Amino acid sequence: MTDIDVLVVGAGFAGLYQLHRLRDLGLRTRVIDAASDVGGTWYWNRYPGARCDVESMSYSYSFSPELEQDWTWTEKYPAQPEILAYLQHVADRFDLRRDITFDTSVTAASWADDGWRITTDAGERITSRWLIWATGCLSVPKDPQIDGLDDFGGRVLSTARWPHEGVDVTGERVAVVGTGSSGIQVTPVLAADAAELTVFQRTPSYSFPAFNRPLDADEIAERKATYPQWRDAQRASGFGVPVALPTRSALEVDPAERAATYRERWDSGVLTAVTSAYTDIRTNLEANETAAEFVRERIRETVTDPAVAETLSPRSYPLGTRRPCLDTGFYEAFNADHVHLVDARETPIQRATADGLRTRDGVTEVDTIVLATGFDAVTGALLAVDPVGRDGERLSEHWADGARSYLGLAVAGFPNMFTVTGPSSPNVLSNMVVSIEQHVDWITDAIARCEADGVATMEVEAAAEEAWVTQTAAMVDQTLYPRADSWYLGSNIPGKPRVHLAWVGGIAAYRDVCDAVAADDYRGFTRQRADPHSPSLRTPRPVSA
Ligand code: FAD
Ligand code: NAP
Repeated sequence: MTDIDVLVVGAGFAGLYQLHRLRDLGLRTRVIDAASDVGGTWYWNRYPGARCDVESMSYSYSFSPELEQDWTWTEKYPAQPEILAYLQHVADRFDLRRDITFDTSVTAASWADDGWRITTDAGERITSRWLIWATGCLSVPKDPQIDGLDDFGGRVLSTARWPHEGVDVTGERVAVVGTGSSGIQVTPVLAADAAELTVFQRTPSYSFPAFNRPLDADEIAERKATYPQWRDAQRASGFGVPVALPTRSALEVDPAERAATYRERWDSGVLTAVTSAYTDIRTNLEANETAAEFVRERIRETVTDPAVAETLSPRSYPLGTRRPCLDTGFYEAFNADHVHLVDARETPIQRATADGLRTRDGVTEVDTIVLATGFDAVTGALLAVDPVGRDGERLSEHWADGARSYLGLAVAGFPNMFTVTGPSSPNVLSNMVVSIEQHVDWITDAIARCEADGVATMEVEAAAEEAWVTQTAAMVDQTLYPRADSWYLGSNIPGKPRVHLAWVGGIAAYRDVCDAVAADDYRGFTRQRADPHSPSLRTPRPVSA
């Protein structure tokens, strides 16, 4: 039995920074990851075209000014190998690997009054006073639910588990299933080599052009000189990406001015720019439609076949209520004769056969099937382990009607356990590196305070969790998000309760709430000293979002 102070599960952006911070506290900390190296998302998702859709100099750590100065990004939107190299550099620079165990999965965790008992698939048993899930919001690939994949005679690849040695599809017939961000990125790159490429699209995405390019020396120097101010601007923004804030309704400006504004923002190549152009795009259907139609016009302008353009145009949900995408040449790819689009809403994939994918129109024969079919978002990695909390309650029982948490950081009945970017925090509705740093800092400070105060257990009060769940759900109800079936709501996973998995109020407001909770002696938590006869440190005042 290994005995440590803190176990961190996951060695992506979150786990690496969490380890670095906990070392400063002098706590015996261990990180475990199923992967063979650091990187998390950027270790696993190696498909051609994979890159972030937040600019490199924003999608990076802010905690070390020296790191900011020494690391130089090459592209506006770096590709997966560069982001992975960055995280490997961070691991080496801060000497993190010596406390990370790779190729190992945490398979069970249960609370035992004085700490957590954890088991791994290597058969190791670990006792840890604190348990931190840095397991990622998009780390468990969704089962594609296509019958017969085992019967298929060719290759089946998943974008989320792409082979490390790469894949050459030159001269092959390829099917891509899925048109979320992964499918939209991989399509044009595979199309460049494949003899025939067929994209099976069930729900079209709204996708914006990245206008990706190499960074020039002057802009790098300018950002390096002003990083502190830039980071402040990120933290003060809605999504961790500074964009000009709207002041007017989309409905109070004339159509020509509105079109010019949308065009200017479109040309910026920033994912959130168009959706942030007016105050009411996320809350008012009529306002939203002006922006949605602007995007559809761009699709019609780009795709030469009007029928294909129409199929690619989202009409069943408002802009921004499902995750928008940033692409390089996605719509343009359909202008090539060898690239085909199947409307998998109209003609669903019935099953895989030995030769390809069957719809009611027949079998599309292919050599390779690429599944870009998404993830069991936010809760998937946590429920895969399904920790057992106080009184033997499983997380799956606690979340039977949907994920519940306090601040997205902790769960009632699960003492000394934190979730980095957990449900109902800004997580996937933000530049996640900004949100990860904020969570890691908050968790580290909370543990440090407990250690200093002689607190042995820190646990969310049920009433605080309930209030948070109610308030965050009410905020969601004021937006257009509930109008779409999306992975934000768990709709992509059969049986997953329909609960919005992210805080929708913007990262600056969220940070203020978290800071206020900490400043108010961790309002909403009970903190119990090791001596059972000493009074608990409890701040029972109500929380407010
Ligand atoms: P992850 O990077 O997901 O790391 C979690 C780690 O936990 C994984 O390595 C996993 O193996 C490990 N793990 C999970 N469960 C267990 C277990 N039981 N035992 C052991 N190990 C376990 N976000 C943005 O803000 N901007 C972007 O542009 C962007 N692009 C993305 C592109 C792709 C293709 C994907 C999939 C996601 C993207 N995201 C983006 C979201 C991205 O996941 C986050 O930005 C960030 O990388 C998450 O870091 P993390 O450390 O929280 O989790
Ligand atoms: P996704 O957005 O969930 O997309 C999955 C796609 O697969 C959807 O189009 C879905 O259609 C389709 N699909 C699933 N099962 C299917 C089936 N049986 N038949 C036909 N279609 C099927 O997943 P993702 O593209 O991997 O992206 C997930 C998230 O990761 C993104 O939203 C983003 O947050 C992040 N990401 C970011 C980037 C980036 O650009 N930086 C790149 C990749 C991923 P339905 O919608 O109809 O179910």
